[in-house]
Amino acid sequence: MSTRERKLKFLSDFRLDIRTGVAKMILQYGEGWLTDEQLDDLVRDEIANWKRSQRMNRENRARAKALHEARRAELREKVQYFSRTMQCNCDLDNWQPEPSTGHSFVCRIHKAAVTP
Ligand SMILES: [Zn+2]
Repeated sequence: MSTRERKLKFLSDFRLDIRTGVAKMILQYGEGWLTDEQLDDLVRDEIANWKRSQRMNRENRARAKALHEARRAELREKVQYFSRTMQCNCDLDNWQPEPSTGHSFVCRIHKAAVTP
């Protein structure tokens, strides 16, 4: 496979955005009209886009994890707080404890903790 073929395969593997004019032109007229320089630009852009999306995914995962952990810590504190004054009524014969609070969905402590 030639270098040009490999680059074209790379672009098709990355599903070059079908809405772009270039993708429409390739679908309609093939790729013969693309110069090697234009092909290099497309490959470079596609790699840059991929790297940017990977970086954003990593950052968003870290942000989501931090938010999730903060929410869990807040719930644990609220459960401790309400447990001092409220009697647990989890009814564990009929309900499972919720992972977020350790109390069942019907328990007053759970309800108080998850209420904003
Ligand atoms: Zn309970």
